[in-house]
Amino acid sequence: MRMAGLALALTAGSASAATYHLIPGRVPLDWQGPDGNTIVLDAPRGLIVVDTGRSPMHAQSILDYAKRRHRPIAAIVNTHWHLDHTTGNDDIRRAYPKAKVYASTAIEGALLGFLGRGRAQADKALSDPKTPEGQKAQMLRGRDRIDHPDKLRPTIPVIRSGRISIAGRTLDVRLAKFAATEGDVWIYDPATRNAFVGDLVVAIVPFMDTACPDGWSKALGEIAATPFTTVIPGHGSALSRADFQQWRTAFDNFVKCGRSTVGKAVCVTGWEKDAARFIDAAHRNYVREAADYYLTTRLRSSPKEQQKYCESLKPA
Ligand SMILES: [Zn+2]
Repeated sequence: MRMAGLALALTAGSASAATYHLIPGRVPLDWQGPDGNTIVLDAPRGLIVVDTGRSPMHAQSILDYAKRRHRPIAAIVNTHWHLDHTTGNDDIRRAYPKAKVYASTAIEGALLGFLGRGRAQADKALSDPKTPEGQKAQMLRGRDRIDHPDKLRPTIPVIRSGRISIAGRTLDVRLAKFAATEGDVWIYDPATRNAFVGDLVVAIVPFMDTACPDGWSKALGEIAATPFTTVIPGHGSALSRADFQQWRTAFDNFVKCGRSTVGKAVCVTGWEKDAARFIDAAHRNYVREAADYYLTTRLRSSPKEQQKYCESLKPA
């Protein structure tokens, strides 16, 4: 009896140690765009894949993992529509056509604006003989998704926050409106106290391309209000509660500094200092350039531009 009890305890221990499987996304320093992190969860009816990356290699890693596990991919959850989190949806659905896709409907506004503009830029680069072949391949892959938006759209739109069953597993699925995008989906798993938050947390620097900073800050408050013990971000390693609090402070300081009249360099240095524990040596220059770029384009642009992503995007 004692032995059986011990064996059981050990099994339970090892199972709780691995409450999710992370396939880390890279943030390369060359022309390659980043891949978002993928998280795989076990559910009664198969695997749940949270975000699918951008590159074919990343999608292949997800498919290889499912194969190793001998379990079908039953569902995809997209935390947001950015192509570094959704491009792989199509690769996965080709292998698992019955997989459901849970995501917000923010992709519709993105198709009218950001992604439409991105497509025009890609066309220009594609006709430029100086563009590297690898970059062209990546652009064609992204353009294919924009031209066939059903490869990005949800099959089950997430239109409100609440507990729902995905592939037979109950998860607390939250919708944060006007945050990193018009509709960010994040998951709180009460059974394991993990929070999978997509790009509401990006370790090295917040990717603010389509951000509404105030909505984003509010969403960070909603994450803080759950009793999570671990946050798994859209890019970077898992964060403890203390790490998350530090990142949240860094985010709010950066936005506040961006809206003040102090020099941009002060705000960039402030971010580097506040977020130091999340920035690896290889990405230091990248972070400086990105922080400066977001100050210029989002936090110090015209008042209209600053509010651009704080309301629904409609046809021009
Ligand atoms: Zn991302």
